[in-house]
Amino acid sequence: MDSIRKNLVQILDDARKLSTATQDEIDMWRRKAQWALVDVVTPELPVGVDIQVDPEILGLYIATMQAVRNTGCPLHIADVLSKNGFGEYEPRGAIWLWSGLNYTGRVKVAIHEIAHWYMHGFYGKFFTSMPPRLYKEQAAEAVTYAVCRELELDCYQYSVSYIAHQIKSASRYLLRIDGLIDAASVIVTSIKTNMEAQTNE
Ligand SMILES: [Zn+2]
Repeated sequence: MDSIRKNLVQILDDARKLSTATQDEIDMWRRKAQWALVDVVTPELPVGVDIQVDPEILGLYIATMQAVRNTGCPLHIADVLSKNGFGEYEPRGAIWLWSGLNYTGRVKVAIHEIAHWYMHGFYGKFFTSMPPRLYKEQAAEAVTYAVCRELELDCYQYSVSYIAHQIKSASRYLLRIDGLIDAASVIVTSIKTNMEAQTNE
């Protein structure tokens, strides 16, 4: 899929450029982008944007949760925010999503965690050593961006600042683009198949 490759290359390139900005600037971008994914009032986060659920987003949400179930990986929606962020795959080997996320946020975060499962869990078992966490985060978020673009969901600001943050903290690792394309294609196909199944019901 040409568009997946193009979007992966673009987000990694843009993130590399953004990583030369100051840490404060990158963090500001990230915080702004995070708010759009959240729909509850917490001390840190103001009210998000899509509390009213549009039926298309709801359909996408259901299809994405089905894609999580198709991995065979346990799924939990947790009321407590994980110390690792809005979602978690490692270290417990289950996918956790924070209940404070709006539907768009849950879709985006679930895709990120499926990307970890696909690249660093299921296939990860075949490696003798795991790549460092900052490398895995860059890979999972680049895949998330490419998948969201295929699903017409815009998470550019979030993804570019998240990856830039990882590059800034670690220096860039060389990512195997073919591996990323492979992961993104599998996830897109799974979600789209689930959406088609909904319309055929
Ligand atoms: Zn991650």
